[in-house]
Amino acid sequence: MSERKVKVLHIDVGGCEGCASLVLRTLPLLRSNFEIHSKYLMDEVSLTERYDVALVTGSICLDDEGEVSKLRKVREVANIVIALGSCAAVGGVTLFARGGQEPKPEHRVWQPIGAVIEVDYVVPGCPPAPVAIKTLLENLLSGKGYFLNVFASAAKMRKFSGYDLMDDVVLTGLCVGCGACVLSCPTHALQMIERHPDLIPEKCIRCGTCYVRCPRASQLLIKRFPVKPKVLSGQATEVVARD
Ligand code: SF4
Ligand code: SF4
Repeated sequence: MSERKVKVLHIDVGGCEGCASLVLRTLPLLRSNFEIHSKYLMDEVSLTERYDVALVTGSICLDDEGEVSKLRKVREVANIVIALGSCAAVGGVTLFARGGQEPKPEHRVWQPIGAVIEVDYVVPGCPPAPVAIKTLLENLLSGKGYFLNVFASAAKMRKFSGYDLMDDVVLTGLCVGCGACVLSCPTHALQMIERHPDLIPEKCIRCGTCYVRCPRASQLLIKRFPVKPKVLSGQATEVVARD
């Protein structure tokens, strides 16, 4: 175990802040090994010092130059960048935004943060469970790259939803009828019909949770994008790629 705590930066760039509150809810699970720097916990968060890991929540508004520039700065100062929650990971519900809303009607184009910077891991979920953050960070620290593969591979795809689950798994005959996708959907957009899921399109918020929870789709992701996940070294100061 590292002698010092792993330095984790949390930045929220847009969205409903539900995932930001998730980071706060996870704090009691992280305190022993991780030091969290978040605007919700301190007066000011520095973007000039270095961090081992950055957790980014919310999707990025491409019309907001200040937020885009902040996001680029995060990439410069963090060894590992994690898009936490569906908006940061795949755009999620913000992909339906078309602008015209107060207080900033000029904000029209929202994208997952991977549209602006390279992302090492994505964790879809609206919001994800606190234990997902804890497990991911602990595996980064212990160097167990195998458990991280799906989240690293998913970072290369950027967009996936219930439509992709239908196209890639159900309509190709790969579905084994386990029901994990139905249980994971936050909006009940999936229903089992004759032992296979069916999508209710108007309920799908494009959060991507079902896709990474599906044992078949997650294996497809790993095969399509065979990346070596970055993990923290034993001293939590350098980053190495693991098979
Ligand atoms: S079907 Fe449900 S879990 Fe899947 S992307 Fe749509 S809302 Fe998310
Ligand atoms: S999680 Fe995947 S394999 Fe399981 S029912 Fe849903 S689509 Fe089928």
